Amino acid sequence: MKEDLDMWTQLHDGGYRYGAMTTNVSKCFNGVLKGSRGLPSAAMVVFTWSKLVAYFHDRHKEITHDLSEGKVWSIYALNIYDANLKKSKTHQVRAFNNVRGIYQVETAYKNYSSRGGHHSHEINIVARTCGCGKWQNRKIPCSHAITALQYLGQDATTYIDPCYSLENAMCTCSHQFVMPKSESLWRDVDGPKWVPDPDLLRGKG
Ligand SMILES: [Zn+2]
Repeated sequence: MKEDLDMWTQLHDGGYRYGAMTTNVSKCFNGVLKGSRGLPSAAMVVFTWSKLVAYFHDRHKEITHDLSEGKVWSIYALNIYDANLKKSKTHQVRAFNNVRGIYQVETAYKNYSSRGGHHSHEINIVARTCGCGKWQNRKIPCSHAITALQYLGQDATTYIDPCYSLENAMCTCSHQFVMPKSESLWRDVDGPKWVPDPDLLRGKG
């Protein structure tokens, strides 16, 4: 493998990719722009522009609605958090070093699981890390972290990274698009006219 480890592994990404692997982001854009391939250049630009306007508009509307209902976190983050919260109910916590914010959390025995359960994890509340690696990878408290935070009487949702907040999601959707001029107002092109070669059109897929 020629690429540096930090380019394709979560273990070595320095904690900046929030659980997303290398190709996740490009696949997302592929999905948004699906259908524009094979179009003439001008049509491709119009298609991409229209899709992005709709994408930003819909998200802005959804988030505005969620904020008006008092929601704070994205559904994505809450789904992960709720699953972790459910798992945390069977964990046991042991205070280890209060000054440094270190706690030990043990999971219950599981006779029906091939992995058996009964794992021990070191939680560092100050550094926001857990021995399982999930808290630092996703920046959402794992089940072990939730157990330790609840033991301390803290609201574990406040330890979800702000990148998952609806307020910040709103900032990314607040960009103002400029309406393009009507095609009838465009100046005529001075020079040769280019037309697409129908033989080069690709089918979907
Ligand atoms: Zn954990």
